[in-house]
Amino acid sequence: MTTNTDSRQIDRKFRVHMLPMEYDKRPIDERIRDFAEVLIGYNTETATIEAARCMQCPDPQPCISRCPAGNDVPQALWLASQGDFIGAAQVFAATSPLPEVCGRVCPNLCQHGCVMERRYGAISVGKLEAFVADQARAAGALSIPVPEIKTGKRVAVVGSGPAGITVAEDLIKQGHSVTIYEAWPVAGGVLVYGIPNFKLDKRVVMNKIRDLEEAGVRIITNTRIGEDVTVDDLMAEYDALFLGTGAGVTANMDIPGEDLEGVYMSTNWLVRANVPPEFLPPTMRTPLQAGKRVAVIGGGDTAVDCARTAIRLGAEEATIVYRRTEAEMPGNAPERGVSVQEGVKIRYLEAPVEFIGDENGHVSAMKVIKMALGEPDSSGRRRPVPMEGSEYVQAVDSVVLAIGYWPDPLIGKTTENLTTHKWGLILADEETGATTRPGVYAAGDNVHGPDLVITAIATAHKAADSIHAYLCGEPVPVLSAS
Ligand SMILES: Cc1cc2nc3c(=O)[nH]c(=O)nc-3n(C[C@H](O)[C@H](O)[C@H](O)COP(=O)(O)OP(=O)(O)OC[C@H]3O[C@@H](n4cnc5c(N)ncnc54)[C@H](O)[C@@H]3O)c2cc1C
Repeated sequence: MTTNTDSRQIDRKFRVHMLPMEYDKRPIDERIRDFAEVLIGYNTETATIEAARCMQCPDPQPCISRCPAGNDVPQALWLASQGDFIGAAQVFAATSPLPEVCGRVCPNLCQHGCVMERRYGAISVGKLEAFVADQARAAGALSIPVPEIKTGKRVAVVGSGPAGITVAEDLIKQGHSVTIYEAWPVAGGVLVYGIPNFKLDKRVVMNKIRDLEEAGVRIITNTRIGEDVTVDDLMAEYDALFLGTGAGVTANMDIPGEDLEGVYMSTNWLVRANVPPEFLPPTMRTPLQAGKRVAVIGGGDTAVDCARTAIRLGAEEATIVYRRTEAEMPGNAPERGVSVQEGVKIRYLEAPVEFIGDENGHVSAMKVIKMALGEPDSSGRRRPVPMEGSEYVQAVDSVVLAIGYWPDPLIGKTTENLTTHKWGLILADEETGATTRPGVYAAGDNVHGPDLVITAIATAHKAADSIHAYLCGEPVPVLSAS
């Protein structure tokens, strides 16, 4: 008997192209002058050839098991290799509500398991996902199917990032009524108010928000739950509540001079450079004065995004200052490589100890200390140890702090019986999203800490399943606070 997989493997032999097909990017000297997307991507011919490189591995397929959302990558690539791009996009969309987004920004966890990786180079799953999703979007084939008969149950979703979007889509598809509450003026979470345009065009996110609204999701923006309206108010009005509030508070360094003009928190820097003024509260609409020498403190993806933003703002020197070495650096190494190609410099084993101001109270320099690596700390990475007497002063025009994020403590502080723990994370069951409060579920960065779009989606799917079960009267245990 010839199975489906056998016939695909036989077919591949006649069409295979072993080496990766290049996808297009805008030239460096053009793209660093604006904030438009860097990716041009595949076309129908190169996408088909690249997709046909997939070996259609027998079970267990490593790409599926490495994708937190369990995307059926081989099936999608098979359809793409046959020129059925819409079918391929719908396969991705079956497990992820944001294929256009993940295709652009995911660090391609699935590719790391690809059997082609070692010898020829992994299949460019992410860029193919972006290509097929864009094709399907243009053809109007990504709308959200909703049942005609509604359940009459009402769910409030707090936060409109990937976690909130996932829960809203999953539950509206089940016939429940969904209302999203969002603190910013526009929905989208970090996809709008964080990830820069050159990685993810805001229109991609706006299309998704429009799909949700067309499916019947109500979106109420400019509303920070915990202020005028509390979780208790929502629980009186809705049958269940989902908290997808992310980890949006930027950490500070607690060193002298942090309050000087010209010292920015990463989110403030990114949104004022990358977000259209009409998407911002009036107090954040003043344009940035980056100056010529910008120092970005930190070592993760956010630091890289801030430094690439500085280049696009016209900085002559955009320098990432990181207290460990490249080996300990978190984040996406290829993206870091792209930033260096664009002109970003990285100084390792250094950290500022003081920001120094001029007579107008604007930062003009920073005192930096050199570091050596000591024993590993709780993260498993070698601890940076300051080298006494190594301080020196570096002239700067702006400084951006990109040293980490934690959740906004507001909801934890204003909600009874909702347990939070380290750094204000909401205590929730990883498998069900259940919190310590009946009917209240949580997932995404506010539960596991700052991570990835795809992990927020994966955990939010589980929470949506539990909410659906809870609304159907099935038992979903509340998490014990102890
Ligand atoms: C600069 C930056 C770059 C990144 N780049 C990448 C990348 O390239 N690839 C990748 O996979 N991941 C990236 N990430 C991480 C990724 O964006 C997050 O992991 C993901 O967005 C988390 O989704 P979420 O829905 O849990 O939270 P969020 O996206 O943070 O959304 C939470 C939403 O809740 C809202 N909210 C919070 N409190 C309240 C309240 N009290 N009332 C109402 N609304 C509230 C917030 O305003 C926000 O809109 C990046 C993150 C940052 C900051």
